[in-house]
Amino acid sequence: MNKLKTALPVLERLNAAGHEAYIVGGAVRNYLLGLPINDIDITTSALPDVVESLFSRTVPIGKEHGTIMVITEDTFEVTTYRADGDYIDHRRPDHVIFVKELKEDLIRRDFTVNAMALDEQMQVIDYVGGRADIERRLIRAVGIPRERFREDALRMVRAARFESVLDFAVEEATIDAMISCAPLISHVAIERIVTEIEKLLGGLSPSAGIRTLRDSGLIHDIPFFKDCQELLVPDQALSLEVYIAYHLYRQWVTDRALPQLKLSNESVHMIRAGTEILSVLDSQPDLAELEMLVYRYSAELIIECQTLTADKSDIMTFWNNRRIHSRQDIQVDGHILMTHLNTGPGRWLKAALSAIEKEIVTGNLINSQEEILKWVDKHVEV
Ligand code: ATP
Ligand code: MG
Repeated sequence: MNKLKTALPVLERLNAAGHEAYIVGGAVRNYLLGLPINDIDITTSALPDVVESLFSRTVPIGKEHGTIMVITEDTFEVTTYRADGDYIDHRRPDHVIFVKELKEDLIRRDFTVNAMALDEQMQVIDYVGGRADIERRLIRAVGIPRERFREDALRMVRAARFESVLDFAVEEATIDAMISCAPLISHVAIERIVTEIEKLLGGLSPSAGIRTLRDSGLIHDIPFFKDCQELLVPDQALSLEVYIAYHLYRQWVTDRALPQLKLSNESVHMIRAGTEILSVLDSQPDLAELEMLVYRYSAELIIECQTLTADKSDIMTFWNNRRIHSRQDIQVDGHILMTHLNTGPGRWLKAALSAIEKEIVTGNLINSQEEILKWVDKHVEV
């Protein structure tokens, strides 16, 4: 509610200049559900140039699609009433048509619960029965589901996303259309699909969302997932990376399928960490192995992986009791070792540093230069 109030001056400013303006989409839906509001989208009859002229701080983040970001005490995406242009190949069109009526803007939206508007008096404008569907907790396509999915096939994955995020059910005709249109998902860019699956996995009911992807047949036309022999149906929210890592770790799919997802290097890195953590946790790790694990990886990631294994170790205690946090904390470095042994660099050095690191992490060696050099004299051969 407070968050929504910050948008009222923006609506008022547009109204005062003779234009219509409403809060739309997810913010209205979450307001009616009493859920936290992420970002506030505003729709207006004003053209983008006009929006820019009415506010002192704006960014033309998607001006060709009608979207101007307006910055006041908060940021708002203000988009001119639009209808989508022709849909080619079951993908979102790259051009849009500005329209005069709020109704036209609302009925182009995906689901009834996402197709309501809120005016400056906090009155809900609902042409499609969104409020009733909120009451019944239903995800229902606006208009004829099959047509809407043929226009933009991503909407089918979005249905599963909102099913999970809101813990709603997908309405019957909508689900039927998903089953018959499922193969069309292969026309949609994987990046857009992955964004929705990531939100699905972070939702209230990821098991329901994943089952819908599976039972509708959508999963068979989504890269990477189509190659998985089995699909994890998680009983709590998971990151995309740990979800994927689990499939790789269980060898339900090979590593070769991973590039199909076109993930960032950071995500791939996290997936690699995830598979390593899962395999350690599943191997009944001893104390030293757990100490090495918290030294290498974040407690957060390990604890998330733990939800998928039988391991019950108290990771936070290991984390808080780490003896060193990184190699920088070790009281010797390569130079000190070379000087001490009066020798040059080589393969021995890397091996020696790793061994010292491991001994310190697992509490077998005190992290002082004196102790480490004594240990080196005993254990290191050059
Ligand atoms: P979130 O809280 O996750 O941001 P949201 O409802 O705002 O949820 P967005 O993906 O940000 O979801 O989309 C904003 C709004 O734009 C939606 O509520 C919906 O009205 C409309 N929309 C988004 N994607 C589509 C689509 N593919 N087809 C039709 N309408 C869409
Ligand atoms: Mg949004």
